[in-house]
Order: sequence, then C-alpha cells, then structure tokens
Amino acid sequence: MEKKDLKSMTLPELSDELLAMGEKAFRSKQLYQWMHQKLAASLDEMTNLPKNLRERLAGEYIWTALETVDVKISAVDGTRKYLFRLADGNVIESVLMRYKHGNSVCVSSQAGCRMGCRFCASTLDGLARNLLPSEILEQVYRIQRDTGERVSNVVVMGSGEPMDNYDNVVRFIRLLSAPEGLNISQRNITVSTCGLVPQIRRLAEEGLQITLALSLHAPNDEVRRQLMPIANRYPLHEVLDACAFYWEKTGRRLTFEYSLVKGVNDNLGEAKALADLIGGYHGHVNLIPVNPIRERSFVQSNRDAIEAFRGYLEKRGINVTVRREMGRDIGGACGQLRKSYMDKKEA
Ligand code: SAH
Repeated sequence: MEKKDLKSMTLPELSDELLAMGEKAFRSKQLYQWMHQKLAASLDEMTNLPKNLRERLAGEYIWTALETVDVKISAVDGTRKYLFRLADGNVIESVLMRYKHGNSVCVSSQAGCRMGCRFCASTLDGLARNLLPSEILEQVYRIQRDTGERVSNVVVMGSGEPMDNYDNVVRFIRLLSAPEGLNISQRNITVSTCGLVPQIRRLAEEGLQITLALSLHAPNDEVRRQLMPIANRYPLHEVLDACAFYWEKTGRRLTFEYSLVKGVNDNLGEAKALADLIGGYHGHVNLIPVNPIRERSFVQSNRDAIEAFRGYLEKRGINVTVRREMGRDIGGACGQLRKSYMDKKEA
C-alpha cells in the first residue's frame, strides 16, 4: 500500500488515522499542532508524543520536510530567496517579500512547469513533478520558522502552473487557511494561472475566498499565442468567460497580470486594446516589467513606455499598479534560482 502523507492531511483525516492506530483522540490534535502551528521540522521535536508513536509515524507515513539548500538575502529590501531540496532530490524555490502591510511568501506549486511560456525560466526544462500539498505548505513553514516573523500573505506565483496541480493546490489552500493551522486568511492568498479554463471554472465552485490572478500578457490571441502556448488551446474569450464566472461565483475582484516586453506587447495601441478587453471586469491590472532570462531574447520595456502604458490604463479608469522589483540585487525571476542551480550541477 502506498504511504499516506502526514502533513497533507486535514485534522479530521489525521484523527481517523490515529484512532485506527489505537491512539487517543488528543494525540491527533497534538500532532497536528506540532506540524501546522509549531511548524516542527522533524518528528523528534515532538517531545510530548510517545517515542514509539513517533517511530511508528516515521515508519508508516510520508514525512515531508524541506531541506534548505541556499538562501539569498537582499541588502536592498530584505527580500529572501530560498532554494529547497525535496526528499527525491528535486529542488524548488520560494521567495519572502517584506512589505509594510506584512510578509508575503511566493510558493512554487510544481518542480518545473510544462506550460512553456516563452519568457519564463521555470518551464525551460519542463515539468519534473507536481508538489504535494505538504511540500507547498512547507515552503511557508520553513520561511516563517527561519525568520521568526509571521507570514500574512501567500501568492502561488512561483514555479509551476497551480491549475495543472489542481487537487494538491486546493488542499494546500484549505490547510494553510485552517484555523487549527497557520490560519492565513483566504483573502490574503492569491493563485496565479496562465488560464486553464476548466480548472478556473472548477475553482470558482470550491467555496474559497482567494484572489484569482490571470496571466494575460497580451490584449489579443495573436500576441498571446506568441508568448504563451496555452493560448493555442484556450482562446481569450473562453479564458475571460471563465474569469467572469469566477468573479460572479466568489465576488472576488480579479487580478490581471501583464508582463511588458519591449516591442511585443507594450505600445499604446495594445494598452487601448487591453482596456477595451478587460475594462468591464473591475479587475486590477498588475504590470510586470519583463525580467529577461538568459535563454531568450526578450527585453524589458523602457521606463517611459511602462509609464505611458500605465497612464493610459489609469485614464480609462482601470486600477493598475506596476510591480515593484523586489530583491533586484539577488537576481532572477521565477525559476531562475532553481535553473542556475540545476545547470551548475549538470556542469
Ligand atoms: N503558472 C502561473 C504562475 C507563474 S509566475 C501563471 O502562469 O500565472 C507568476 C507571473 O510571473 C505570471 O504572470 C508569469 O507569466 C510571470 N512571469 C514569469 N516569468 C517572468 C519573467 N521572466 N518576467 C516577467 N514575468 C514573468
């Protein structure tokens, strides 16, 4: 029989499991608290659990604990980039960003990615595998333990396409926001997707209060297809219909991400087309100056073009921000830290 993953279970599931082992009900609460509130890195830490129980748990279940391989700390803004190793040797990265309103962690949902977006480093070597709910949680847990500061916001915007690992990501969200765990408000959790239509519709009906961010990156299918292969599968009108459905079902305001690439999607005609396209959604547009990766020739739009693009959207009454680049001095966009680690290892 395949082993069950301790840290991916809800409290009721864990209780059933421990009852079946002949343990008293309070043991599951203790164990759950060690994992999800005290953020224990090992079973050995759980000193109020009998040693023989800890040994049985270690032998009969999957115990997920991430090993920190590297931490890069920005001298400019305190941003920290973490490289973690999974039990099978795969590595993933996560980022802690410090804002006035609190600490935000960006987590990976997959090791690698198979979506193939042209400007993104996470997808260059394809998908290694999906992450377990516990492996996504552990990124937040290890960072909170490392800094000793409470994490108040989580964005699923690291490597991977969260909607391509749907069940594990939804379970992760429920565990992260559970009152008996870290209790992070769902309103402070954002999931970013390249636009997998059936999964967006399914997510709309989960009864969650998270923010959905759509990676739009273009105001029409033609330009979008140049940047994102997924646009060949789902045309914009279908993706936007699914987003409207999400908004309707959850009442949550949408975020549209738009990475500005010089000469590809950043002129005023494109800003106008974008405003026409999403003006009716009362969403928020997040402009991201593209972070050039070595393997591709995309160039960041210049300051004036970014400002003109932003100014135009504002004039049209659209809520827009330009994403501040965090941790500039420690380098790298989504997946670059992992990629450079893997390249080094190969060499
Ligand atoms: N798979 C999810 C999460 C990706 S990362 C998605 O597609 O939404 C979060 C955002 O960063 C996405 O909008 C992604 O398209 C964008 N992104 C990835 N690499 C980038 C780069 N080098 N420069 C700018 N934006 C990038």
